[in-house]
Amino acid sequence: MNKNPFFGRDILSSEQYSKENLEILVSVSREMKSIVENVGSTDILKGKVMTALFYEPSSRTFASFIAAMQRLGGSFIPLQGMTYSSVTKGENLEDTVRTFACYSDVIVQRHPEVGSAKRSAAASTVPIINAGDGVGEHPTQALLDYFTIIERFRKIDGLSITMVGDLLNGRTIHSLIKLVSLYKSVKINLVSPDILKLPSEILKKIKKRRVKVNEMDRLDGIVAKSDVVYVTRVQKERFTDLNLYEKLKHYYIITPQLLKKAKKTTIVMHPLPRVGEIESAVDDDPRAVYIKDQMRNGMYTRMALLSLVLQKNKF
Ligand code: ASP
Repeated sequence: MNKNPFFGRDILSSEQYSKENLEILVSVSREMKSIVENVGSTDILKGKVMTALFYEPSSRTFASFIAAMQRLGGSFIPLQGMTYSSVTKGENLEDTVRTFACYSDVIVQRHPEVGSAKRSAAASTVPIINAGDGVGEHPTQALLDYFTIIERFRKIDGLSITMVGDLLNGRTIHSLIKLVSLYKSVKINLVSPDILKLPSEILKKIKKRRVKVNEMDRLDGIVAKSDVVYVTRVQKERFTDLNLYEKLKHYYIITPQLLKKAKKTTIVMHPLPRVGEIESAVDDDPRAVYIKDQMRNGMYTRMALLSLVLQKNKF
């Protein structure tokens, strides 16, 4: 039996994934996919309880974690729309987390502050899975995005991956870029308006890995050369100046017209929700993978992660 590198561990950042443990995650995700497709569910996490502690809005992450736990035979405590109820009463994050650590075996947390998952991990006796910490990271989204790319291309090396939109505030970008840049022959194209560029500390980290990175403002020229076009929403909730947001929100729009320039094999991804950056006319294009592939993969990869974090002998 190999050692399961995820057992009992917090999942706080994509920096924790290595190429080797990504292989484990991919293979367990495929196993989960086959379970769901063939029999719907299993009971390997029977008796285990997951708390879903969400201080920020969520549809897909929240629901897919719950669906994942149910399909693994476990149960869950769903806490959504907390909207600071604990804060209103004067309770701090650490005390809330300590409480749910007493009732459950793992806590999946979304919170508006960067570093909040790390704080919770320091307070918790059970593993914390970061489901988004403000503009920080979203490591489980990165996992499903990575799995989606791997299932399509079977590799990352040699691909030209274009990330578009709000690279400054988009936590899914911050996490995914750390994964794909583990592969030295990937090409990363960063397309954003100047004021929404990738944070310089992340860019520095990526450049240290010696992968090819190009930053640009225009999308049309790079589409034809891209294997993956990963589109993001301008993150309205991170803006203090809403006029500025209005000016930027549709800076890039993916249209059927634009996709005429793309290769047949290119895939268009989006973590969702979209608010106009991909026209709905694109949805029926076979290159659009944001609806079916990414969402289903979200459930499979979260099943994989939960089973690895909670089961010593899973791998
Ligand atoms: N759902 C993703 C997130 O939570 C993307 C987004 O909200 O734009 O980061």
